[in-house]
Amino acid sequence: MPTVNDIYNYLDQIAPFRYQESYDNAGILIGDREMEVTGVLISLDTTEAVVLDAINQGCNLIVSHHPIIFGGVKRIDYQHYISKTIVAAIKHDIAIIAIHTNLDNVLADGVNQMIASKIGVTDLRILNPNLALDEMSNVGSGVIGTLPTPVESLDYLLEVKSQMKAGVIKYTDLCKSRVHTVAICGGSGSFLLPAAIAAGADLFITADYKYHEYFDANGQIIIADIGHYESEQYTSEQLSKLISQKFRNFAIHLTKVNTNPVNYL
Ligand SMILES: [Zn+2]
Repeated sequence: MPTVNDIYNYLDQIAPFRYQESYDNAGILIGDREMEVTGVLISLDTTEAVVLDAINQGCNLIVSHHPIIFGGVKRIDYQHYISKTIVAAIKHDIAIIAIHTNLDNVLADGVNQMIASKIGVTDLRILNPNLALDEMSNVGSGVIGTLPTPVESLDYLLEVKSQMKAGVIKYTDLCKSRVHTVAICGGSGSFLLPAAIAAGADLFITADYKYHEYFDANGQIIIADIGHYESEQYTSEQLSKLISQKFRNFAIHLTKVNTNPVNYL
């Protein structure tokens, strides 16, 4: 049976962990590298409910996008959600791997490619390449691509809302009547707005926009905030597909726990 380390090494081939941002904490967060894997549960976030789901489904490895241990953990407070998750995992010998900004930053099989495939954006390239990591420009933040033909802006936003199962889309003035070039950054992407404008994007799809940041659209681009969870929800599907292509001797499940902390009325 493959070990936790075998899965880690495979994920490292797809999205090298050294590509993660300096603030990130992707990698093996909890667990014995040499433990044999009985099953993998995939999730966007790891919460106590996700750990319990892993136990119920006979999985002893959770592969999630967001790292449950991110900043420093200074105390294990049994009333706090992070500690509860850590304690549940350790008590039940569940290992946790987070594949976070390293998966954001690769073009092939990355988070943004998955979003693009759902909303019809093709001919992708990295929006903000990190040439120090990859001279061929296939590593960095965000992607930009085009729709096969220009689409009326509001029609396209409605299509994105449907495809991304967004409860709401917050967007700026439709300063472009049609959308052809689209920049995408799953999760918090406002830092990429100047790059999206410079690259000639008509629309920038991302999440976690703050009120004053919307003004930065400045009549040059349409910003659309589709929600953080919504933008990255298909990452689990992608991870499941990738792991199942390589490993066939254990079950791979997507968690049924909805970890989105945000509700919409
Ligand atoms: Zn995220």
